Amino acid sequence: MKYYDKLIFEISRPGRVGYSLPKSELTIGNSQFTIPANLLRETPAELPEVSELDVVRHYTNVSNKNFGVETGFYPLGSCTMKYNPKINEEIAHHPSFCGLHPLQNEESVQGALAIYYHTARALSELTGLADFTLTPFAGAHGELTGLMVMRQYHLLRGDTKRTRVIVPDSAHGTNPASAAVCGLEIVEVKSTANGTVDTNDLKGLLDDTIAGIMMTNPNTLGIYETQVVEIARLVHEAGGLLYYDGANLNPMLGASRPGDMGFDIMHINLHKTFSTPHGGGGPGSGPVGVAAHLVDCLPNPRVVKEENGKFKIQHSESACGRVAAFMGNFGVVMKAYTYILSLGKDIKHVGPIATLNANYVKESLRDAYYLPVDTVCKHEFVFDGLADKSTGVTTLDIAKRLLDYGYHAPTIYFPLLFHQSIMIEPTETESKETLDDFIDIMHRVAEEALSDPDMVKSAPHTTPVRRLDETTAAKNPLIKYRDLN
Ligand SMILES: *Cc1c(COP(=O)(O)O)cnc(C)c1O
Repeated sequence: MKYYDKLIFEISRPGRVGYSLPKSELTIGNSQFTIPANLLRETPAELPEVSELDVVRHYTNVSNKNFGVETGFYPLGSCTMKYNPKINEEIAHHPSFCGLHPLQNEESVQGALAIYYHTARALSELTGLADFTLTPFAGAHGELTGLMVMRQYHLLRGDTKRTRVIVPDSAHGTNPASAAVCGLEIVEVKSTANGTVDTNDLKGLLDDTIAGIMMTNPNTLGIYETQVVEIARLVHEAGGLLYYDGANLNPMLGASRPGDMGFDIMHINLHKTFSTPHGGGGPGSGPVGVAAHLVDCLPNPRVVKEENGKFKIQHSESACGRVAAFMGNFGVVMKAYTYILSLGKDIKHVGPIATLNANYVKESLRDAYYLPVDTVCKHEFVFDGLADKSTGVTTLDIAKRLLDYGYHAPTIYFPLLFHQSIMIEPTETESKETLDDFIDIMHRVAEEALSDPDMVKSAPHTTPVRRLDETTAAKNPLIKYRDLN
């Protein structure tokens, strides 16, 4: 092990210091301020004792082990890992905004409220829905909020029987989870062989206990639900509402709008489509948009524009409740607003280019990887392992081998419809040269699987750690430094 690969505690030496602090000048009255004895710790904190240079080297080396969109291609399907322009960060970090306090009065935060209001207007324009709340903190939180809106709509009408929600078998795992958290019962609708919702199966499920259906379009296989208008008609006729999981709205930007398809409620992940860095726990933002007849059910507080042009924070009795402190993750909203304004009308190219890139990669690799649903995809597509399965090289092996070549693995073993899913989403921000290199490497791995399967099965070979015991890591995680020794 290289010296700087050690833990910071392991390079610690008693008495070594990496800082020097000035003597405290705080006084109370005439005497020097000292921390009261009862607040002092009894034994010194166990902190690493290292020089400034060692600290800098340690963290620089640790950060170099990290992989992100800015280190290399990150084709993680369903996650839209695209480049997040630096201008977004710069604007969001402007002291005029990041110095705001959430308890400031309305009068003094008119600029921030204007940004909140105009971001909601822009999202309405892009999605064809009447209004948005920007307060939910993430995609799954947006789903929960949207389902609370759905439930509130039925309750306000006295329609208390509607406690079940339909979710396709191909849905993102958060959909049934959010429905369960909202206290709704989940009913699964089947997919047809070509990967879309089976409308015949759906017809049999619709009755007066159905609150609505949750869908993604294009769905988790990257396939457009061509029957969506018919599905909307069926669900509406049965008295239900349509929820759209717009976590990755990428393929839709400039191409199609959920509101026009007949959806009543949707969420968007600003930290996917609208270019906020994500992974590692946020911060994110999952705005929820609704059609006109549901605006009164949106959670409190809402930002409205009064006739005199002033912005106001409004609370309503008919709201489905409150889902976040204050106005949500305002910094993320600022990044999304900057992204939308900096692209301007060019935002209409996002969807088509994301779609072109995905189809280019799919068509270039289908000779070596098995394509279970053979159709034009949208922003992402799914292979079911290698075309030649005789060597026993699995999707996991391919994902691990890609790490040796400096690529992040695609999403694997999801969706659950296939046994060896490899889900690839290139996004619109990659150049043709990057895609060509990735295609090249994927072909090389497929060849290695035939010529030297054991080498692929034992990959990765060049990463700081090799194959981890992922089951034990998940079931019995040792997360304290002590436990590792
Ligand atoms: C990412 C994603 C979600 C969940 O979003 P989080 O911000 O991680 O909660 C939901 N649905 C789909 C389709 C997604 O891709």
